[in-house]
Amino acid sequence: MTTISTEHYKNKAKEAIKDDVLQSALAGLQNRLGPATAAMYKNLPEGDELRYKAHEVRMFALDNLDMLLEQLAQKIRQRGGNVFFARDQKEAVNYCLEITRRRKAKLAVKGKSMVSEEIGLNDALIKDGVKAVETDLGEYIVQLAGEHPSHIIAPAIHKTRNQIGSLFEEKLGISYTNDPPTLTKAARKHLRDAFLTADIGFSGCNLACAETGHITTLSNEGNIRLATTLPKVHVAIMGMERIVASLEDHDALFRLLSRGAAAQNLAGYVSYIGGPALDSEIDGPEEFHLVILDNGRSKILADEEFKEILCCIRCAACLNVCPVYGKIGGHSYGCTYTGPIGAVLTPLMTDIGQSKDLFQGESLCGACQDNCPVNINLPRMLLALRAKTAEGDPRWNIKPSSPVEKFIFSIWSKLISNRKAYDFFFRLARFGQKILPTKNGEIRKLPPPFSGWTLDRDMQQIASKSFIQKWKETQK
Ligand code: SF4
Repeated sequence: MTTISTEHYKNKAKEAIKDDVLQSALAGLQNRLGPATAAMYKNLPEGDELRYKAHEVRMFALDNLDMLLEQLAQKIRQRGGNVFFARDQKEAVNYCLEITRRRKAKLAVKGKSMVSEEIGLNDALIKDGVKAVETDLGEYIVQLAGEHPSHIIAPAIHKTRNQIGSLFEEKLGISYTNDPPTLTKAARKHLRDAFLTADIGFSGCNLACAETGHITTLSNEGNIRLATTLPKVHVAIMGMERIVASLEDHDALFRLLSRGAAAQNLAGYVSYIGGPALDSEIDGPEEFHLVILDNGRSKILADEEFKEILCCIRCAACLNVCPVYGKIGGHSYGCTYTGPIGAVLTPLMTDIGQSKDLFQGESLCGACQDNCPVNINLPRMLLALRAKTAEGDPRWNIKPSSPVEKFIFSIWSKLISNRKAYDFFFRLARFGQKILPTKNGEIRKLPPPFSGWTLDRDMQQIASKSFIQKWKETQK
């Protein structure tokens, strides 16, 4: 799902900022989860050392990705599972459709999976005559509303219980209520029927381990376990970077993942899956498929500047502290991955030029890195993307930004590296600002090409004396 454009970003951001209900939901989420996650990290016996170790573990996996994926695939195949390497979303979707067609599937249940959002699996299944039912409560709500998730972990955070009550009344035919337990029970009743009659189950993968040859899924609702064990076929889809080398590395990441995602020691349900059910097992699918998706990740992996972004374990902790996400919400980004992670990952996976608002809109405050369980240096990469749009890069198919902008910045760069020229410029500007409209001592409107700066805010006037001048006077 992508609707990325400057127009979309600006319009949706404006709408979000004016939406009091959304603002209060986002503030509630950030006030609750941001500080709680920081406290969870602090209380770890290893403290921040575990986050640094997790970063090393992830970088090691990326450096050895080809061997680790092969090891994983081999182990799953030995247990009777199928592994398919998909180069892009089309190959991944086609592989899934081949299975549903062969099995004559009519109903699919899905565990929460951002990677299936990335490839547009639901739409493809529905077009092919397969009813796809999301089974995570938040995802189910969003699906009933005909929307997309607005947060990686809390997909329906933008909805109030009153809105959900009306939605369930309309779509599920129940009497209106805004009581969360009653709404949850109504959803569960519908979902239990789907679990029991589904032909196929789809899931994502939180992490895979090469040493043991399994994938792991986490949930707090138990829905993923039902979706992957009750139907006769289970298809798991994972981004090719979501793997670690050993069980020990896996353990380190796991201790951080739930803390980053929901400020929990561990999610309620953890499933280790390494193939179809064995003859001795009474439950589990008779057919297991793992789809390992590239979809632009190899290109990122090959670029030393951006490879680090593939350390991400999609916990959403960076969204929970980002001041930009906290105001504009997830739908403004117009893509699957939102917040700081989306502002770096989406441009690299799609088109840097087209997605430039995503990384130019972030504040560079650094809160995302501080709250990231893998200590990913998101601000560095946000800046690197900005530099690419300014200077251009043929490897990423980016042309340098407009000659006018380049000219303005080259003049600015000369000015700030020459004290005399700098002082002269500000003497002129101090004089020139007198003709600009002001209110309460602030400039209301700048002339083009700077007019955008004062569209929604006033600007401080240039002080009558510079800091250096004042400092010299004070010293005297
Ligand atoms: S960048 Fe870090 S905090 Fe953000 S989703 Fe990825 S792992 Fe979580």
